Amino acid sequence: MCAWIKGIYATAMAMDALEAVISVIQGDCSNVLGLSEILGERGIRIIPFEYPPDRDKARLAWQLDKLAETLGAAPPDVIKVKSRLDSIRTKLIRLDELTWRENKVTGFENHIHLVSSSDFNGDPDTFEAKLDDFLIQAVAREPLTHRVRLGYVGVPPIITGIYDYLEELGAAVVFNEVQRQFAMPPQSHDIIEQYLEFTYPYDLFGRVHDIGRAIAQRQIHGLIHYTQSFCYRQVHDIIFRERLNLPILTIEGDKFGPLDNRTKMRLEAFVDVLGDQ
Ligand code: SF4
Repeated sequence: MCAWIKGIYATAMAMDALEAVISVIQGDCSNVLGLSEILGERGIRIIPFEYPPDRDKARLAWQLDKLAETLGAAPPDVIKVKSRLDSIRTKLIRLDELTWRENKVTGFENHIHLVSSSDFNGDPDTFEAKLDDFLIQAVAREPLTHRVRLGYVGVPPIITGIYDYLEELGAAVVFNEVQRQFAMPPQSHDIIEQYLEFTYPYDLFGRVHDIGRAIAQRQIHGLIHYTQSFCYRQVHDIIFRERLNLPILTIEGDKFGPLDNRTKMRLEAFVDVLGDQ
């Protein structure tokens, strides 16, 4: 099992007041089913949710309706909350543009805001207030200059310091693939469409298409593909290399901790080669 799964298990066990866990047993992670079973065995109520692998709209609508009913959420309230959260998501898209188009937001700042939007840190109002302050500051900045523009694909890193180290080398991360997906750019008022557009839970080819579009739009020179030890998604590296026509450096993390020296050397060599090109 990967360290994220172990961490989720340990956290769930440590939280006395946890009433239930929504368990995404299809479309997130191949280990979630096993995790759900052991959490259920430990007395935690499991609410299962499945993304249909074939992106079938009717099946997804049924899953969303079932989840809403289980949680006692009335359809008009679901629409109201979606619309409230969409206003924050629109600001995150502005933050993303400030990263790749205006070069005023660093790759790490982009990463931390977008990845946190997976649950808005549990408090959307506070999240939005901090985001507003950040955007005011960022707009007033002078643009950053870098010799190399990178994309980061794969699950968010468990190791710290990657973005800072790349900045030191003169490389900017102008695209955080999965983190941007977590932010769910609002493209529709329909919640089912929103969850169909989300590339992460379906087959890899939707992700490849999304990454390809970003490479062209954001003028990316190379990709860092982060993989997590013991994660089934490592196999995606083969398809990325076959389908995406630009240099890719694959790095792997296992446990929480700082970037190790070996990975630092590999990042340095990669940025140097891209810089020379
Ligand atoms: S890193 Fe991979 S194995 Fe671990 S939780 Fe995420 S998808 Fe699952």
